[in-house]
Amino acid sequence: ELGHLLNDIMQDTRVIQANTLRSHEELLETRQRVQDSEEKIRSLEQALEHASEKVREDQLTGVLNRRGLDDAFEREATRADRNQTELCVALLDIDNFKRLNDSMGHQAGDQALIHLTNVIKESLRPSDSVARYGGEEFVILLPDVSLEQAELTLSRLQRELTKKFFLYNDERVLVTFSAGLSLREPTEEQADVIERADKAMYRAKQAGKNQVMIG
Ligand code: GH3
Ligand code: MG
Ligand code: MG
Repeated sequence: ELGHLLNDIMQDTRVIQANTLRSHEELLETRQRVQDSEEKIRSLEQALEHASEKVREDQLTGVLNRRGLDDAFEREATRADRNQTELCVALLDIDNFKRLNDSMGHQAGDQALIHLTNVIKESLRPSDSVARYGGEEFVILLPDVSLEQAELTLSRLQRELTKKFFLYNDERVLVTFSAGLSLREPTEEQADVIERADKAMYRAKQAGKNQVMIG
């Protein structure tokens, strides 16, 4: 009797041991699957972030596009209103760009746009935003600076452009721009402040180009 009982107990124990082992293996397997899934989620999140950055970016120059500008303006305007800080907005338009395209070709024009954005990015603060507003027009948002400081930044940019020539087929091409600069009024909409900058830019063109006007 006792022998039988012992046998049964031994048998049960073996079954339990086997079950435990299997459960342990299953647990390890499940844990691995969770880890794999987590990794996959991370990489999908990265891809999503990358894709949403891409749709806010101008394909040629890598600066913000109109959609990116809308987001950046919204963010900066909200911040400026909340903290009662200044936000300057500049509209730049390349001078005689059609002539450059006509004389050197569209490719050269494209490279000139890339060159300009590189010089802009190098001479601005990380907190400033640059966007391609149209073909050869760019908008720069300069948070936390006065009009005078923003004007100095644009003059510095113009100086940089005369130093860093655009080189195309070993030819040195001087790229200049005319700009209108406006200080955003509290609660002022993007379209209104850009319209003021645009009018000032037009005056800069009429006054002989390669200059900055405040409007
Ligand atoms: P202004 O000094 O008065 O601004 O004259 P402009 O020649 O710069 O201005 P206009 O508006 O007459 O010509 C702009 C030119 O920009 C015409 C168009 O072909 C060119 N353009 C617009 N987008 C692009 C682009 O993505 N690549 C190239 N290569 N050219 C472009
Ligand atoms: Mg233009
Ligand atoms: Mg132009």
